[in-house]
Amino acid sequence: MHSFEYRNGALHCEGVNLDTLVDEVGTPAYVYSKATILDHYRRLSEGMSELDCLICYATKANSNIAVLNLLAGEGSGFDIVSGGELFRIKKAGGDPGKCTFAGVGKTREEIEMGLDAGILSFNAESEAEVEFINQVAGEKGVVAPIALRVNPNVDAKTHKYISTGKSENKFGIDFESIAGAYERASQLEHVKIRGLQMHIGSQLTSVGPFEEAVKKVVPFVQQLKDLYDIEFFSIGGGIGIVYNDSLASGVMSWWEGQEEKPLTVEEYAQALVPLLKPLDMKIILEPGRFMVGNAGIMITEVLYEKRGSAKTFKIVDAGMNDLIRPALYEGHHDIVPIKEPATASTEEKVDIVGPVCESGDFFAQDRPLPSVESGDRIAVLSAGAYGFVMASNYNSRPFPPEILIDGEEVHTIRPRQSYEELIETEIIPR
Ligand SMILES: *Cc1c(COP(=O)(O)O)cnc(C)c1O
Repeated sequence: MHSFEYRNGALHCEGVNLDTLVDEVGTPAYVYSKATILDHYRRLSEGMSELDCLICYATKANSNIAVLNLLAGEGSGFDIVSGGELFRIKKAGGDPGKCTFAGVGKTREEIEMGLDAGILSFNAESEAEVEFINQVAGEKGVVAPIALRVNPNVDAKTHKYISTGKSENKFGIDFESIAGAYERASQLEHVKIRGLQMHIGSQLTSVGPFEEAVKKVVPFVQQLKDLYDIEFFSIGGGIGIVYNDSLASGVMSWWEGQEEKPLTVEEYAQALVPLLKPLDMKIILEPGRFMVGNAGIMITEVLYEKRGSAKTFKIVDAGMNDLIRPALYEGHHDIVPIKEPATASTEEKVDIVGPVCESGDFFAQDRPLPSVESGDRIAVLSAGAYGFVMASNYNSRPFPPEILIDGEEVHTIRPRQSYEELIETEIIPR
């Protein structure tokens, strides 16, 4: 679900009119719905309730400490990929004991931080890393909880930049080598084998690849349980969301014929629970995008219209530095006007582009949209995941604000960055 809809002619998030909101906070701005985030967490948690399931939210999808705090309050664990994320979890009131630490390049400092915090598991991605974790734990005189990440060599059928479970990807240890890696890890004194992890990719819109990977790996998990008494199997994240038709269908006629079918929690659970239940162990899920993707939008204002011989450009005040998904992964985002268009008949094909000096700086190309003019605001939908977290100051553009809506309440969970803050840490040598 999501909580963005037209009411009385204006797009609302929960009980808040977004047109009046941006009169105050300006544009560009990210807006998140608390109810949507909670609904996604609860639906997934209930859908998998037949299993002993721990949701470790993939922090990198949206790591504002207010969002982390919301999920911590629900009892969520966290999948982290850096020391910075662990720092955030602690600040947000999360439980490090429910944190799994992923990533191919953990540094000594990060391993030490994880050990000090008492995390649930280091999910190691190479044998060299396991040996290094063993060494660092040994120097501290402690034992590090670990799991190995297996690369099941399954095609996630997603964009090549977000596919992670094929042999040619840098992630995990090959399925053919994983048994030997466990054998060697079991002989190390300062690691304790706790589980097995995999993550085959992101934005999967069908359950098939998940099913294939789980089927392939389950017999091996059973072996690990017998051999090393492992406690958990993490099947990773990757549940896709609908980027097309993200508002209630039927409301907006210009979407017709381009609907994506969402992967529902019901389908996911129906396919995977029967395969996982016989293992009789803790199952960890690491959803990121599913939890926050459709819970956030980015609002931007149209500055100018430019009619070229081949195209019509609408130039807006947000750029690829604010939301990079279209430039980086050819990511599609639905775009709707904040003021509800009277009819769909006035739509025209336009490119929505930002002010940044790059040709990749666009949010939509050749997209039929209801006509919008200079001064009108538009919402780039489904921007809650991999949106603000990937923002940069490129072109010396300050970070946009992040706003969390809770019913009628508006919480600024990060104010717009000022120019002073933009250069605050820079130093001219004397
Ligand atoms: C990024 C990542 C996730 C989350 O992926 P989503 O597609 O956002 O669900 C989960 N696990 C690991 C190891 C990741 O790197």
